[in-house]
Amino acid sequence: MSGWIVGLRRRLHAIPELGYEEHKTSQLIRETLTELGIPWQGPIAETGVVATLSGGRGPCVALRADIDALPIEEQADVPFRSQHPGRMHACGHDCHTAMLLGAARLLKQRESELKGTVKLIFQPAEEGLAGAERMCHAGVLRDPPVERIFGMHVWPATPTGQMAGRAGTFLAATGFMHIVVEGVGGHAAMPHLTVDPVCTAAKIVVELQTIISREVDPLQSGVVSVTSFHGGETTNVIPGEVRLSGTMRSQTLEGLLFLQRRIREFVEGIAAVHRCRARVEFPGTNFPATVNTPALWDLAREIGSELLGAESVQESPPVMGGEDFAFYTQQVPGCFIGLGIRNEELGSTWGLHHPRFLVDEAALPLGTALHAEFALRSLRELATER
Ligand SMILES: [Zn+2]
Ligand SMILES: [Zn+2]
Repeated sequence: MSGWIVGLRRRLHAIPELGYEEHKTSQLIRETLTELGIPWQGPIAETGVVATLSGGRGPCVALRADIDALPIEEQADVPFRSQHPGRMHACGHDCHTAMLLGAARLLKQRESELKGTVKLIFQPAEEGLAGAERMCHAGVLRDPPVERIFGMHVWPATPTGQMAGRAGTFLAATGFMHIVVEGVGGHAAMPHLTVDPVCTAAKIVVELQTIISREVDPLQSGVVSVTSFHGGETTNVIPGEVRLSGTMRSQTLEGLLFLQRRIREFVEGIAAVHRCRARVEFPGTNFPATVNTPALWDLAREIGSELLGAESVQESPPVMGGEDFAFYTQQVPGCFIGLGIRNEELGSTWGLHHPRFLVDEAALPLGTALHAEFALRSLRELATER
């Protein structure tokens, strides 16, 4: 099946679409499921799809893939590169989708052996738009109720053939910010007749780091990253406003809320000192931390050892990346793992969200096998418990 999975991944890679706009992607998923003879429901939350496999009455487990891409111009030199200017599957969600379709095909072949139901959740808008939350609101964890959920992410830090994860908090609570610093524009030669938002915004960028260095317990983790700074058009005009945006991370939702409160106070205070006005917004929904149920990480580790070899399962430290998979694990026990794709020879060493991000596709059938086995084993365990 490897060639089939890789072929799907390449087709998906060529048509990257942003959150809630994954129309071609969603169509390819639905067509593939239909070809496999697997019933599906959709669209859910704009472009989401949920497929169901069932061997009869019994427990229900879910496997999840995210399907969206990023607003990045692809620089990777691959023959199946993005056909959509300014869009790229730089987070590997094309791989996640293809691996889950692979699991769909594998599980379909064994549908009669299933001790219950497997839901395959193809979810839109993971990148900052909390598609998982909308899928939850649409009821994908109900009817029948999902008792366990598994997800995975291609993981450039880990070599191909290996997997990584941990019990408890694996990925960070995540929020985003938009800041507008308003001053009074004017001639750059007469700054005293203006209120300069550029200087003020620059101070804000620098001072925000003080929250991390002076206010967060050094033994706890926190991140504030300002990722865009826009203001002004030319050399001799002080602009009227500057717009900043960025993200903040913590290992807990409480920690995240603390960062947001202090960011607001810093921004408003620094702006006031410099006679500017500032608006701070935290758009969308904060992602909670992704917390792996210890017993399910144990199960994932056991399955990983059997399929990949005991030496190929890595205990990972927590990572400050965020995942909206957290919305599912808030409601049901779950486990999220990193699937190694690092291959120095191939050059698949770039980080997620990099314009040259590259995947070692040899990992894809392994992801499919892990997905399928997570589901099969979980159904067997849950059915025995009854
Ligand atoms: Zn991403
Ligand atoms: Zn991702």
